[in-house]
Amino acid sequence: MIIGVLAIQGGFAEHINMLKKHNIATVEIRKKTDLDHDFQGLIIPGGESTTITKLLHELAIYEPLAAKIKNGLPVFGTCAGLILLAKNINNQENSGLNAIDITVERNGYGRQSSSFSSMGTMKNIGKIPMVFIRAPYITKTAPNVEILSEVEGKIVAAQEGNILVTSFHPELTDDFSTHNYFLNMVEKSTKKTCKFF
Ligand code: GLN
Repeated sequence: MIIGVLAIQGGFAEHINMLKKHNIATVEIRKKTDLDHDFQGLIIPGGESTTITKLLHELAIYEPLAAKIKNGLPVFGTCAGLILLAKNINNQENSGLNAIDITVERNGYGRQSSSFSSMGTMKNIGKIPMVFIRAPYITKTAPNVEILSEVEGKIVAAQEGNILVTSFHPELTDDFSTHNYFLNMVEKSTKKTCKFF
């Protein structure tokens, strides 16, 4: 299995390190042609969602990536990655990837003093450490979206089909279980595709 990591801005190195530590091969997606590599799942890291969105368009990655996601590529977005994958952002035009039917509040915990960690429960996983950095949270989910975690009454993780999003940063902890959950999604989806051959 090879996991692509969008590496144009933000905390991609931490995801790559974590995956490497667990012997998962990765490929950095920095330009349009990198999308031609063979990879079965993609991680969109935290960072600054407006900058990543702008770069996706400028680097002409946006259209081919949106098409791959539409065709079922499993994607895991953390923090800014969650914002990029959301269909709606409160009080903001959305030129992101429109992949998961959720509404998001950017910088939902306030701006600067808003970084904190806590223990939270992820459905199908259990209690894990969660690191929040100027994090968004989810204010609304469509019926087909599964809520995977709520912390203090706020939705911080969700899944719709092959799209997984978390407000928090599992790559900044030693806990691999959220990545592992995503890798299982990727594996399931590869098996589904292979069935037809
Ligand atoms: N606040 C950032 C944004 O809106 C996200 C922060 C993060 O990814 N750690 O893009």
